[in-house]
Amino acid sequence: GAASPFLEPGVRTSTNSLAIVHLSRDNLLPVILQESKGEVDGYAEGSVINTRFGSFPHTTLINQPWGSQIRASIVDTGSRGRKRKVQDEEAAVEDSEGAGSATTPGQATPKGLETASSGFVHILPPTPEVWTTSLPHRTQVVYTPDYSYILHRIRARPGMRIIEAGAGSGSFTHASVRAVYSGYPKADNDARGKVYSFEFNEDRFHKMEAEVEAHGLKDLVKVSHRDVYNNGFLVDGKSPEAECVFLDLPAPWKALPHLSRSKPAGTEQDTPWVSPLRSDRTVHLCSFSPCIEQVTKTVEVMRQLGWMQIEMVEVSHKRVNVMRERVGLNMPTDRGSNLSPYDVGEAVQRLREVESKSKEFHERTQGAENGDADVDMDDAPEAQKSNGTPAKGANESKAPVASSAKPYMMGRLIHRTEPEIKTHTSYLVFAVMPQEWTEEQEAAAFAQWPCGK
Ligand code: SAM
Repeated sequence: GAASPFLEPGVRTSTNSLAIVHLSRDNLLPVILQESKGEVDGYAEGSVINTRFGSFPHTTLINQPWGSQIRASIVDTGSRGRKRKVQDEEAAVEDSEGAGSATTPGQATPKGLETASSGFVHILPPTPEVWTTSLPHRTQVVYTPDYSYILHRIRARPGMRIIEAGAGSGSFTHASVRAVYSGYPKADNDARGKVYSFEFNEDRFHKMEAEVEAHGLKDLVKVSHRDVYNNGFLVDGKSPEAECVFLDLPAPWKALPHLSRSKPAGTEQDTPWVSPLRSDRTVHLCSFSPCIEQVTKTVEVMRQLGWMQIEMVEVSHKRVNVMRERVGLNMPTDRGSNLSPYDVGEAVQRLREVESKSKEFHERTQGAENGDADVDMDDAPEAQKSNGTPAKGANESKAPVASSAKPYMMGRLIHRTEPEIKTHTSYLVFAVMPQEWTEEQEAAAFAQWPCGK
């Protein structure tokens, strides 16, 4: 099949492919880029994306290098038709904060043609991380701090096969397919890494299937509509031969008997037992549950079924902000707010440099066009940043001021850790099912062992 933009995005955006329109850090819009108008279920409508930063026809987003900044276009919809059009546009994004606009921060951008060319967006390739923050939520999802740790612990690597249940909103699915991806299947589909995903809710199952198809992942993710508690993990009666398992289910202990190597006692299944696990490898499993009661039950059943190295982990994710502290003349440092003679000398020198930088900046930007969106505030002198007024047309001059600046002018490098863990996501229960040894393998291994001779 065609390469997925998640796995092989190439260098540029392309038609009929998923791209992420970055409006601001917290406002990402998934879009299937289309040359002509047409709706793709669940995505921003084709043709034009209207945001408060302006209008962006898809044609201006297609065939652009990933990461490009795209300026808003003047879309001539006729001034009378304009208002209705904005209301009609399902993709209109009205709640974006920050970025994208050249107007003074804090000033509301009026809707309409007069501001249609004032802003910009960035066009980003889809990654599991940006998808997790922009995907349509159908359920609770697994977030990046958890899934990166889980995929590491269950040893998801290129070429491996993962069982996942339930699929939910597909957040974990996208991260796991990247982890096991080892190239597009050519002749032998089964030799490649694959995700076997199970979802019991019919609506979510259909949405997942459509998403997997739209994202070019059809050959790598097999979604099955299944109640795994009762019907297990085989696909078309065959074993997925999985080495990795991830369960995000309300009652994982009900699914565990189906993940045994041999038929567990009490299982109602007369047909010969087929295990969904790969027999000649150790299998690594993670079960994700928000409540400790679920963990207790899961661990109890794991013990009965022969799972080993059972361990529970909670990822307590804290954001660590690393930044340059702006050390101003009147700003207290860690040496206190009283400046020592050493500080005074340094401060005077700093003041001189700031002044000359400011002068240089004004000279550079004089006469430049007004109202350009691409104002890099890191290029602006301190005074302009603090009063919040963007330097008009600053982008017209490309001379990097920062390169000539002394590092201390950019402030001391510091970090601040969030004082508290704000959210509990889930408890992660990990377990291992050792490789299964047949009598023959046992004998062969024994024969090779020096003492066995
Ligand atoms: N891990 C997913 C993600 O990252 O987007 C979220 C999974 S969501 C919390 C749990 C899902 O399990 C729901 O979509 C639910 O319908 C599904 N589910 C519950 N019981 C199930 C069962 N017996 N068999 C299959 N899926 C089940």
